[in-house]
Amino acid sequence: MLHLTIDGVSINVPAGTTVLEAARGMGEYVPTLCWHPNLTPANACRACVVEIEGSRALVSSCSRQAEDGMVVKTKTERVHNARQVIAELLTSTNNTASAGDLQELVSHTAANTLRFAGGETWEQPLRDDNNLFVRNYDACILCYRCVEACGVDVQNTFAIAVAGRGFDAHIDTGFDRPLPESDCVFCGNCVEVCPTGALLDKKEYELRQSGRWEEQDITTTRTTCSYCGVGCELELHVMDNQVVKVTSPEDNPITHGMLCVKGRYGYEYVQVHEDITEPAP
Ligand code: SF4
Ligand code: SF4
Repeated sequence: MLHLTIDGVSINVPAGTTVLEAARGMGEYVPTLCWHPNLTPANACRACVVEIEGSRALVSSCSRQAEDGMVVKTKTERVHNARQVIAELLTSTNNTASAGDLQELVSHTAANTLRFAGGETWEQPLRDDNNLFVRNYDACILCYRCVEACGVDVQNTFAIAVAGRGFDAHIDTGFDRPLPESDCVFCGNCVEVCPTGALLDKKEYELRQSGRWEEQDITTTRTTCSYCGVGCELELHVMDNQVVKVTSPEDNPITHGMLCVKGRYGYEYVQVHEDITEPAP
């Protein structure tokens, strides 16, 4: 066990615990945007910064492991200012209406979302090039989660990466090809981890566009995927007696919320009620 102090309170945590886990374990509010429990910390958003005695710069708590004798401060003015500016910069360039965690950061830091308004924005056409999910990079905050899910953390497909530098940095399929022409295998794991709604299942996107996505009317039922012997746990999201989305629980020890294309998107057949009398051509 390690002994450290967070905001003046002494605590003991097991070795290997991050500062973020230790602080949240005590009930402290430490916001995160790029951090995801099942992905390697990318240190991209800096929303989780804290002060650590002896460190000149603010430290990302999601990737910094707790150390014996560490003195951490999560609520100083410096920390608050850093988080507030992050929220103000992101909301000035992006369409963040659907980014729940970012909206929470805005309200928690009382960020002025108009502070940097009027500058350059990251406006992008909707990329709607396949039947399974759409990409709306207007809402992308470059958290890197999708890249990590597509790469070594989960899928090992490497269909997407961050291209460009500075303000031009963006998620790219390689020469901005349509997804069907890229290496994408349409597992949808990037959609699963996207925190802003920049990536959205096509069905959900269409229902939202037509005003028919009613979150409060959606029920979820857990079941087992029947496609192969792995038997992944699925969550069927059902609205009006129709499956509208399939996910897997984030805390499932086998899937960690990730699925393949069949489990995530191969569900339409369960709601086709006509008799099939001939094999498909
Ligand atoms: S759907 Fe899967 S393979 Fe395609 S970009 Fe997303 S994570 Fe990569
Ligand atoms: S598309 Fe989503 S997951 Fe990917 S970098 Fe942008 S906000 Fe993050």
